[in-house]
Amino acid sequence: MANKQSTAQTNQAESNSSGLEISNLKIWFDTPSGPLRAVDNVSLSVNKGEIVALVGESGSGKSVTSLAALKLINTPPGRFVSGSITLNGQNILAMTEQELESVRGTSAAMLFQNPRGSLDPSFTIQEAFQETLSRHQPGLSPKECREYIETGLRQVGFNDWERVAASYPHQLSGGMCQRVALAITFACNPDLLIADEPTTALDVGIQAKVLFLLRKLNIEHDLPILLITHDFGVVRAIAHRVVVMYAGHIQEEGPVDAVLCNPQHPYTRSLIKSVPDDVGNDDVLYQIPGTPPDLVNPPAGCRFADRCELAVKRCREELPELRALAEDRTARCHLIDLSENKV
Ligand code: SF4
Repeated sequence: MANKQSTAQTNQAESNSSGLEISNLKIWFDTPSGPLRAVDNVSLSVNKGEIVALVGESGSGKSVTSLAALKLINTPPGRFVSGSITLNGQNILAMTEQELESVRGTSAAMLFQNPRGSLDPSFTIQEAFQETLSRHQPGLSPKECREYIETGLRQVGFNDWERVAASYPHQLSGGMCQRVALAITFACNPDLLIADEPTTALDVGIQAKVLFLLRKLNIEHDLPILLITHDFGVVRAIAHRVVVMYAGHIQEEGPVDAVLCNPQHPYTRSLIKSVPDDVGNDDVLYQIPGTPPDLVNPPAGCRFADRCELAVKRCREELPELRALAEDRTARCHLIDLSENKV
């Protein structure tokens, strides 16, 4: 395992260090009423060693963006309209399905919200590991395979790894399954990890363990992670940068501390305001009024206008552009004062 990891690290060092690069991506879903613009001109990057959190309400486009990163939306009704996606300089959108198969799980891996669902119930953990290794590391001897399994399970905190390896998913808790899924995912030494709500289904204590592991793997292997979440506690705990999506558009982006301590976009402020006070001081929980717009017929102006308490006439007539602000930040709002970065 150690040899394999050092080889992988060397390969990473030799490859393009740009990680994941998404530019001007548009993904539409064809519906009887017309195309639904789920992801509309989205650009983002996840550099080596960086954890980027993609946040937003359900339907904001964050999961579609993450699936698109591995070209997992390539059959109707979903379709790529324009844009580009590169991973370490490789053009993902130009790859054949066969080429993508070797990228998925090897260059890039995904960790899903429901760990039990991502493990085959008819396989023991050892068999699931072996299955993955046989696809991505063909030629390993049984002894090497066993070493991989031991190292992988120990790495995610299972000192009793043999018991876990012999278990079926239903014999493990949700948190244990997520740690196993992380170990199997990581057995292929990916250059990029996409984690879609990896802690949502777990209780708080296990959440902390999984977040700790993600951060540890990020630090030890310089692993870029695209983290999809709606939980600002998770963002604050492990992410370096945050990208806020709403109605298919990026609304704000920047370093986590800067965005969470001083959010510029009214939508980001509303999202943060709707997080319950962790000491229980909230008498009434804040809820963002209204609902997201119809993305088959999106409004001509700002997509947040119907829910924004600061909206003015111009907001309904003209789509705000994503503008660069100070502190390596961007935001999409007509009312941001560029001289002071204040709405
Ligand atoms: Fe609110 Fe207008 Fe800014 Fe949109 S552009 S977020 S409606 S103030």
